[in-house]
Amino acid sequence: MIKINGLYKQFDQLQVLKGIDLEVEKGKVVVVIGPSGSGKTTMLRCLNVLETPTKGVISISGQSLDFSKAVPKKDIASFRRLTGMVFQSYNLFPHKTALENVMEGPIVVKGVNKETARKKAEILLEKVGLADKQDYYPAQLSGGQQQRVGIARALAMEPEVMLFDEPTSALDPELVGEVLKVMKDLAAEGMTMIVVTHEMRFAREAADEVIFMDQGVVVERNKPDEIFTNPKEERTRKFLNMIQ
Ligand code: ADP
Repeated sequence: MIKINGLYKQFDQLQVLKGIDLEVEKGKVVVVIGPSGSGKTTMLRCLNVLETPTKGVISISGQSLDFSKAVPKKDIASFRRLTGMVFQSYNLFPHKTALENVMEGPIVVKGVNKETARKKAEILLEKVGLADKQDYYPAQLSGGQQQRVGIARALAMEPEVMLFDEPTSALDPELVGEVLKVMKDLAAEGMTMIVVTHEMRFAREAADEVIFMDQGVVVERNKPDEIFTNPKEERTRKFLNMIQ
């Protein structure tokens, strides 16, 4: 479903990604862990082409972009639709209701008619447990509720893959569970997901594989049981010792 080959990203003098290779099969959940600044967010943003990689090839669901060459804008636009992104900071439109936030993408980007977009948005808000909050504005919702709207909004575009960038990091601890539950339900339904998170319990319970990144490379990847109980690399062991 996802294939990354030789992905590099440089900001000015700073080489942030130094040759990432990664494959993710359809329906799998991959959790990415690693120290702050190791390039986890940058890798996700490259997959969504919010950042333009310096070089490398990214393929998702049969569509491929090769960043060693100039990539046409229209190719980027269609590629971006393959992934849905959920941000740490929710990024909802503050002047739109929950329902309008979820309807916006399909109407504006896909040209879906308003009634169809509304029906779909209602179903998605119900799915994330917010049927009764559809007419609320973001400021009237808790962080956990806003993030669930964020997930519904990403799903409304019917992506092949969902990318989560520290989706619970900004939440009060008592609100983390409700967001993780929605993510676990999605995983159980067979959604292909890449999740950058510090929630090791989520990684243990929901991940098919855990990837440990450090200094712009994938240091180790393994099943959660293996990587948490028996990390092969010294750097992984050190990181896990620090956070557990
Ligand atoms: P992580 O998600 O693992 O914490 P990031 O991908 O956010 O790491 O950041 C990796 C490095 O790239 C950091 O040193 C960060 O300061 C730098 N970086 C990220 N985005 C930019 C940017 N837009 N411009 C310059 N440097 C950036």
